Amino acid sequence: MLVGDEIRTGYVSGLTFQNKPVQYAVVGNRAVFEGDIVLGTVEELDARIEQVSAAGGPSRAVVVVGEQFRWPNALMPYVINANLPDQARVTNAIAHWEANTNLTFVQRTAANAAQYPNFVEVIASDGCWSQVGMRSGRQEIGLAAGCGFGAVVHEFGHAWGLWHEQSREDRDSFVTINWANIEPGREHNFNQHISDGDDIGPYNYGSIMHYGRFAFSRNNLPTIEPVQAGVTIGQRDGLNAGDIDAVHFIYRTWHYNRTVDQVYASHHGQNAWAHLANGNAWRKVAPNAADGVTNVFLMLVAAKAKGKQAYVVLNSASQITEVYI
Ligand code: ZN
Repeated sequence: MLVGDEIRTGYVSGLTFQNKPVQYAVVGNRAVFEGDIVLGTVEELDARIEQVSAAGGPSRAVVVVGEQFRWPNALMPYVINANLPDQARVTNAIAHWEANTNLTFVQRTAANAAQYPNFVEVIASDGCWSQVGMRSGRQEIGLAAGCGFGAVVHEFGHAWGLWHEQSREDRDSFVTINWANIEPGREHNFNQHISDGDDIGPYNYGSIMHYGRFAFSRNNLPTIEPVQAGVTIGQRDGLNAGDIDAVHFIYRTWHYNRTVDQVYASHHGQNAWAHLANGNAWRKVAPNAADGVTNVFLMLVAAKAKGKQAYVVLNSASQITEVYI
């Protein structure tokens, strides 16, 4: 967590909202939101305030404005700064994202730098932090010595576009904030409701993007507690099913150029499945696929027979809706 004593208000935009007022802490020259989300430099936030003021105030409309914050082709180019200790925590986190989602990474090198102008550089820093979504050009993920594998997976979640789970609009039905236990001056880390795509599933206590129970505690007593008995929050072991659904929703789970490993259909072809290379699971052809289950299946069969890569589109339930070869 990064903490600063000066609290200011600024505006941020996301995938599904724009110019939402938020409180942030000033840490060095960084505007830090909820402890580990870097919104930009203080100058950038000030410039945004002037823009919003000139435009007549913040928009309250929820508008899909976020295409520019998504990584094209669900591909995140990255660089690991040579001075970062324990680089395996980063490569392990990347391997975890790739094994569990349709999202992919590519190492940015001198040879492909022109192809990937937008990229994440993972650097050594004084905390674990990231920006949210693709910001254009070079952006950073900062890691202190204590930021382990789970923290790195979490920070990459921010870079893909995820906010904190407990900041959802509906969080007050699922967690209780114990304001009296929060360090004085750190309340701003708990008092906002901001998320993208928060209508994509039930509240996810087990999210790797959820705060732990003792975040910003002043007295070793819980600051945030689940309403539901018997659940735990704040795990940093890895992505859970809700996290995976969330990023697949944001990125519409487009598989680009995947090899079709195996195909299967039931006797009359009403139900069909395919297994995609690196897809990590059998995917059912959506019963309501516009081209019809049989036609989609035939495309998958053709891709497999020819050994060709297919461009496969999935819906939010990870069912195949379209195939192009
Ligand atoms: Zn975070």
